Amino acid sequence: MYEKVIGFIRDLYSDKLKDGKGVVPLHAPCFVGNEKKYLDECVDSTFVSSVGAFVDKFEEGIAKYTGAKRTVVCVSGTNALHLAMLLSGVRRDDEVLTQALTFVATCNALSYIGAIPVFIDVDKDTMGLSPKALRKWLSENAEIKEDKTNCRDASRDFEFMPKSGLAAYNKRTGRRIKACVPMHTFGHPVKIDEIADICREWHIELVEDAAESIGSFYKGKHTGTFGNVGAISFNGNKTITTGGGGMLLFNNEEFGAFAKHITTQAKVPHRWAFVHDHVAFNYRMPNVNAALGCAQLEHLEEFVLNKRETASRYATFFKDVPDVDFFTEPSDCRSNYWLNVLIMRDKKAQQEFLQYSNDHGVMTRPVWDLMCNLPMFKDCEIDGLAATRWLADRIVNLPSSVRL
Ligand SMILES: *Cc1c(COP(=O)(O)O)cnc(C)c1O
Repeated sequence: MYEKVIGFIRDLYSDKLKDGKGVVPLHAPCFVGNEKKYLDECVDSTFVSSVGAFVDKFEEGIAKYTGAKRTVVCVSGTNALHLAMLLSGVRRDDEVLTQALTFVATCNALSYIGAIPVFIDVDKDTMGLSPKALRKWLSENAEIKEDKTNCRDASRDFEFMPKSGLAAYNKRTGRRIKACVPMHTFGHPVKIDEIADICREWHIELVEDAAESIGSFYKGKHTGTFGNVGAISFNGNKTITTGGGGMLLFNNEEFGAFAKHITTQAKVPHRWAFVHDHVAFNYRMPNVNAALGCAQLEHLEEFVLNKRETASRYATFFKDVPDVDFFTEPSDCRSNYWLNVLIMRDKKAQQEFLQYSNDHGVMTRPVWDLMCNLPMFKDCEIDGLAATRWLADRIVNLPSSVRL
């Protein structure tokens, strides 16, 4: 059966095989438009660094596509997430509710601040944070109390979201639960409206890790736009790329303007003086990367439709293959199918199939090692994680590049 599967994938991706002999990559970037033209323009302009027209154009383009009120480009998705947590008021020793089935960047970003993740289970039908598990964990473990966090010196404090004066606290640890970070796994939207409702009820900031889900919509609304802030990534393996890069999505102009300020060393605009009014970062994406982004964005919708077509071919093919299920988008969504997913019914088959496919010219990958298994996060609180572990033992990612 594996032979038939490998044959199907190699035929499907014959455009990615030089002389029919190479390895089918998991996800290769696709440059078929104005990339070289814009890069040339960028170099000719000499504005390759932190100022330039492509930065504004790329931000406006993504805002228009996603429906975000304001967007701010960053050097990576990871530092976009870092800023998203700071702006949401996450501080040292706060707890942040997230999923163990994610890429390590989600947890690294909150760890930079000294916050601590709590791992809640996912749903099998989305592979992302389960609203049911979230609600249950909160009702058993949390209470709402007056928020006694001291307001620090305003020029060192990044919290920018409105405060309600109340906060959720973990009854056992006594720590404040400041944020919740669901991740749209492999581009498939989580049940984000339910999660957003729970967050509101519990005075918890919603920070969407939409790193993988550009082009994915939940009930017609783009992922990453359901809370005050969301983050996307344009790393080389994502649906569109700027080489490296990320973007913050805001539903509010003012948050965005402040975020922009702190990604650019909080420099007060002036023709020659260097005056800075806040502790800040050099997190802004260079113009040369944004040039690449502008060219990629022109093809985003076409790429997503192309990837969806590939997914539907996989779905049809795997209907007749025993003992495996091809993962299809959850209801109420349009997914970008960033990485296609096969669920092996028998967990022993996961390792066998990984071995066979990688030996036979098709790159496949298991899901990331669960965050709660990594040395940095092994002592963090976990919530059962039955579905998380079930999926981790069975997921295999299949080649998912755009096909020419
Ligand atoms: C890719 C990714 C990131 C980080 O993005 P970078 O641009 O690589 O820093 C964060 N979270 C998830 C879930 C990702 O897949």
